Amino acid sequence: MSKVASLSIENGIAIIEVNNPPVNTITAQVRDDLNSVLDDLEKAGNYQAVVFLCAGKTYFSGADINEFSGPPKEEEYRKLFARLENQDVPVITAMYGTVMGGGLEIALACHYRLAESKARFGFPEVTLGIFPGAGGTQRMPRIIGVEKTLEMVVSARPVDATTAKEMGFVDGIVEGDIKQAAIDYANQLIAEGAKVRPTSKMTVDPATGTDEIIEKFVAQAKKLYPGRQAALSAIDVVKASMTKSFEDGLLYEDKLVNIAKETPESKGAIHLFFAERQTAKVPGLADNVEKMDIKKAAIIGAGTMGGGIAMCFANAGIPATLIDVSQEGLDRGIERIKGDYGSRVKRGRMTQEKADATIALIDGATDMSAVSDADVVIEAVFEDMSLKQSIFKELDAKAKPGAILATNTSTLDINEIASVTGRPDKVIGLHFFSPANVMPLLEVVRTDSTSDSTIASAMNLAKTLRKTPVLAKVCYGFIGNRMMEGYAREAEFMALEGATPKKVDDALQKFGMAMGILAVFDMAGVDVGVNVHKANAEQFPPDPAYYQASQAIYDAGRMGQKNGKGFYLYKPGDRQRYEDPEALEILRKRAEELGIEQRNDHTEEEIIERCVYALINDGIKILEEGIALRASDIDVVWGAGYGFARFRGGPLYYADTIGLKTVYDGIMKYQAKFGDMHWQPASLLEKLAKEGKTLAQWEAEQA
Ligand code: NAD
Repeated sequence: MSKVASLSIENGIAIIEVNNPPVNTITAQVRDDLNSVLDDLEKAGNYQAVVFLCAGKTYFSGADINEFSGPPKEEEYRKLFARLENQDVPVITAMYGTVMGGGLEIALACHYRLAESKARFGFPEVTLGIFPGAGGTQRMPRIIGVEKTLEMVVSARPVDATTAKEMGFVDGIVEGDIKQAAIDYANQLIAEGAKVRPTSKMTVDPATGTDEIIEKFVAQAKKLYPGRQAALSAIDVVKASMTKSFEDGLLYEDKLVNIAKETPESKGAIHLFFAERQTAKVPGLADNVEKMDIKKAAIIGAGTMGGGIAMCFANAGIPATLIDVSQEGLDRGIERIKGDYGSRVKRGRMTQEKADATIALIDGATDMSAVSDADVVIEAVFEDMSLKQSIFKELDAKAKPGAILATNTSTLDINEIASVTGRPDKVIGLHFFSPANVMPLLEVVRTDSTSDSTIASAMNLAKTLRKTPVLAKVCYGFIGNRMMEGYAREAEFMALEGATPKKVDDALQKFGMAMGILAVFDMAGVDVGVNVHKANAEQFPPDPAYYQASQAIYDAGRMGQKNGKGFYLYKPGDRQRYEDPEALEILRKRAEELGIEQRNDHTEEEIIERCVYALINDGIKILEEGIALRASDIDVVWGAGYGFARFRGGPLYYADTIGLKTVYDGIMKYQAKFGDMHWQPASLLEKLAKEGKTLAQWEAEQA
C-alpha cells in the first residue's frame, strides 16, 4: 500500500505531509504512516522545527467513524499525539478546510497553529452520541479554558478562523499558500528562538470552569439534547481537566467515551450517519450510465419553493432563471431571495461580495421561452394537476431536447405529469423541502418511464447542490409525506379525543422529535394540510373524523402562525406558543359533532406509541412495496427532512431496536381498541414479528 504520509527536510525544517483523499480522515493507515515518518524523523535528526500539514482539499476532517464500532483506538491516538507533542523543537501545524473532531484534536497536540482564513473548526461529536476522545477534552481547556471549550463541545457548532483566533487556539490566520506560510512561520520561530509549547504541560485556569459556568452548560445540554447523555459526559470530562493530571484526564476521557460509544444514542446517530452516505448508491444503475452535466437551470414558479430552489443552484455556482406567470409574483420572489442573502450578510454568515455574486447568478423572466438554454427545469407552481400538465406540455415544446424536466410536487402522480410530454424518460420528481435552500433532504422520484440516465443525473445534481438524495417511486406523498399520514392522523385523533395540543406535542418532543406535529402544522399553515386533504380525499380511508382536528381549527379561521392562532395562540413580537382555551373548545365541539368522547388520560406512552407505531407501519409498507430502496433510506428521509430524533437512528432503525414484535403487538392492541380501518399491520411487519426477525436481517437476506 502506498504511503499517505511523507517526510522531507529542507533547510533545517522537517515537513510532514499527509495526503489521504478525499478528506484526510485519520484512518489506521494515516496513524501507521505517521508513526513511521516520526521514526524516520527521529533517526534523521538535524532539524530545528517541524511543519505538519495535509495535502488535498482539507486538513484532517476527523477520525474514521468506521472504527467506532470496533475495538477502542484511543490509546493509539494518545501515543501518536504524544509523539508530536514531545518533539524537542517547535511543531507548527497549518490547517485549512474542515477541521473537525479528531482533526482538531491532532492540531491541539502541535505547538503552534496556523489557519487558512476560510477554515472551519468544530467538535461535532455530541451529535453522534459521543464526544472528543483523542485528548480534545483535556488539551483544549489547557489552551482556551473550560468555558470556551464547552461552547464548542456542547453546541457542536463549528467556528470560523477569526473566531478560532479570538478564542485562542489559532495563532495566526493566513491567506493563500498555507504551506509556504507555515514554513515562513517556522523560520520566524527559529529566528526568535521560540520554545516548544506542549499543551499537556499547560494548566487550566479554574476561573474558566466555575460551578456557575458548568451549571450553565449542563442546563444547555439538557435543553439541546433532552434525555441524552453524551453532552453531559463531555462536560464531566472537560471539567475534570481542572483537577486531574493530564494523563489521568486522558484516561478518564477514554473511559467515558468508550461507554458513550456503546449507548443506543450513539449507535442510532451513527447508523444515520452511514445511512446518509449510502442513499446515493442506486442498485442496478451502471457506473458508466451517462450523467448530464448541468450548467444552467430554470425554475417555474417564484413562490416559497421556487425561490429556495433557485438559491440552491446559485449557492452551488449554477446560473438559474426563475420564471413566474406574473411580473408581480416574480418581483416578490426575487425580493425574497435578496432579503434572504441580505440577512445572511447582516448576521455575518456571508460577505456582501459573495452575496452579490450569488444573487447575480439568478435572473428572472415571465416568458416560458426563457427555459430554452436550461439543462434542467424544475417546476414549482401551485399543486394542481391540470396546471402542472399544461406547464409540462409547454416545457416539452420550449426546453431543449435533452433537458430534464422535473417537478417539485409533493403529492401528485408524476406518471400522469410525464404522460403529457414527448420525453417521459426525462421527467422526474425533485421534491425539495422547505426552506429549500436550507433543508438537506431531496426526494428524487422516478416514474415508470424515467431513464437510468435521468436518475443518475438527478442523483449527481443533488450532490452538486449539497443535498442528500433519497430515491423513491411514485405513490401518494412518496416516502416522507406518505409516512406523515398515519403519524399525524393519530396526533389529530388524540387532539379530538381531548389530549391538548401541548400534551401531544410535548410527548413527541420528549421522544426526540424536533417539534411536535401540531406545532408543525401551525408553522406550515393549517390551511396547507387541509387543502391537501381536500384535494386528495380519495386517497384516504372513509372516516368522517379523518384529519378533522385541523379541519375544525381551519374552519374557525385559524391558519397557524401566519395569523397568530391555530392549534396554539401566538402573540406579536414573540415566537412562543401559548395554549389557547378557544382552540380546545373548537376541538371539543368538533369531537362532540363526530360523536368522539373526550378524555384526559392520554399518557405519554400512548401518544408516542400511536404516532410512532403508525409511522413505522407506513414505513414498512413503503419498504415492502419497493417505493424506497432500503430501510435506511426511509430513516434518512425522516431524520433529514422531518425532524425525527436522529439519536434514535430513524423510524425503521428504531423499530428494530425496540423489536418488530413490540411494534406489531402495539398495532394489534390499538386495532382492538380503535378498529382496523387505520390499524392494519404491514404484512412484512407481521411476518417478521412472527419470525422474530429484524428489518436489517430481512434486508440482508434479500441482498
Ligand atoms: P407558492 O404558492 O408559494 O408558489 C407558487 C408560485 O407559482 C407562485 O409564485 C405563482 O405565481 C407561480 N405560478 C402559478 N402558476 C404559474 C404558471 N402558470 N407559470 C409560472 N408560475 C406560476 O407555492 P409553493 O409552496 O412554493 O409550492 C410549489 C410547489 O412545491 C407545489 O407543488 C407544492 O406542493 C410543492 N412543495 C411545497 C412545499 C412547501 O413546504 N411549501 C414543500 C415541498 C413541495
